[in-house]
Amino acid sequence: MFLLGVALLKTLLLRLLSRGSDGIARFRENYDADGLPPVTADEREHLVTFQRCIACGLCDRGEAGRIARSGGAYRGVMALVVAGSRSMPEFRAAAYGFDFVPEAVLAEKESLCPVRIPFRRIARFVRDKAAAVGGPLPLPPHVASLPPKPRPH
Ligand code: SF4
Repeated sequence: MFLLGVALLKTLLLRLLSRGSDGIARFRENYDADGLPPVTADEREHLVTFQRCIACGLCDRGEAGRIARSGGAYRGVMALVVAGSRSMPEFRAAAYGFDFVPEAVLAEKESLCPVRIPFRRIARFVRDKAAAVGGPLPLPPHVASLPPKPRPH
């Protein structure tokens, strides 16, 4: 009973003392290494619009050249929507993949997508989160020998 009382008192004191501390900073200390930066309320609101893809493949039209030039680092827009951008620990690789697709091409694909996936917003979200934990993954050695790819923006 005495030990329980001490534990309760300790917990309450710790909560009281940590009230003013920065929760986001503590979250980042714990999860940045796992590639899991915090998400803002605005970002959370838009996450649902990222998930309505019906896997029709229309957004991969015209991507064969970019896919080939990427040497395997980029597998098309649909793969970024249904896989890369849905798992935050993989955002550094997904951000690297998005760099193969110019912003204007993403904008064009937004008007073709039957469920209006906001490709540019997804790319921005993925890049922002990747930047928070170290940025896009370095060029894999088997791709590094290719000519430099143009930056989309
Ligand atoms: S066009 Fe839209 S619905 Fe079709 S695969 Fe691409 S993101 Fe998904």
